[in-house]
Amino acid sequence: MQLGTLLEKLKMDHLNAQLDSVCEQASKRDLSYKEFLTESLLLEWRGRHLKGVESRLSQARFPWVKTVEQFDFNFQPSIDRKVIRDLSGLGFVDRAENVVLLGPPGVGKTHLAIALGVKAAEAGHRVFFLTVETMLTRLSRAKRENRLDRQLQLLVYPRLLILDEMGYLPMTREEASIFFRLLTRRYERASLIITSNKSFVDWGEIFGDQVLATAILDRLLHHATTINIKGESYRLKEKRKSGVLTTAKQKERGEEKKEPVAQQAN
Ligand code: ADP
Ligand code: MG
Repeated sequence: MQLGTLLEKLKMDHLNAQLDSVCEQASKRDLSYKEFLTESLLLEWRGRHLKGVESRLSQARFPWVKTVEQFDFNFQPSIDRKVIRDLSGLGFVDRAENVVLLGPPGVGKTHLAIALGVKAAEAGHRVFFLTVETMLTRLSRAKRENRLDRQLQLLVYPRLLILDEMGYLPMTREEASIFFRLLTRRYERASLIITSNKSFVDWGEIFGDQVLATAILDRLLHHATTINIKGESYRLKEKRKSGVLTTAKQKERGEEKKEPVAQQAN
């Protein structure tokens, strides 16, 4: 059998595509048989790994991709970078623990959630990102159409589920109880990252029922890392730099701008 055909049958597409240059390099560098074999298989493995990461990143449905390395910790000193470094090691995914990122708009909750999701996808875990609003729309529709179980299963299956923006809108009782079902199914089996602009004391309002809120928080926080971000919005940093906004300190010093202060975006 021809080498090309053999590589095709073995599905070694990456090696097959670069076979000529690999052989040429091997003879130029005078590699031993063992070194040549190692380099060839490494090339195939790297190609497969990269393809897997790309496919997991696209399946995760991130709205945009940001990494931990792109996060400016100096801008947000309330975040302990050691905690983020530990989480980046993905022990929390292996142990099926949760992460809750709390804080006002613009402080980097979604950025960090996505960044941890990217790490997990790179490490081979299935990740899925969606906003709480999208999740509830999907689950409620599925319930009306008698296919709630199947839809829930899709959200139980990823090793890491990222639910963004908990608490922007209150839930109906039915939505809260469907969410509770999802949480119960994932509990101690798979990880969840949740971001919210509401502190835990206000979660009762989100679920419209204190008993359900307690049960939800109980499952969510039993094995969880909570990161409470207290700081300024990064989105407003640039605007402030350009002089559109006035900081509280500038106000104190009477350096307030005459034009109206811009609305803080989410
Ligand atoms: P939140 O989800 O808390 O509202 P985001 O994560 O959406 O905030 O952050 C808003 C924007 O600012 C994003 O583009 C994000 O990448 C960026 N950002 C926020 N905090 C930082 C930071 N500390 N370093 C670098 N970029 C940041
Ligand atoms: Mg956000």
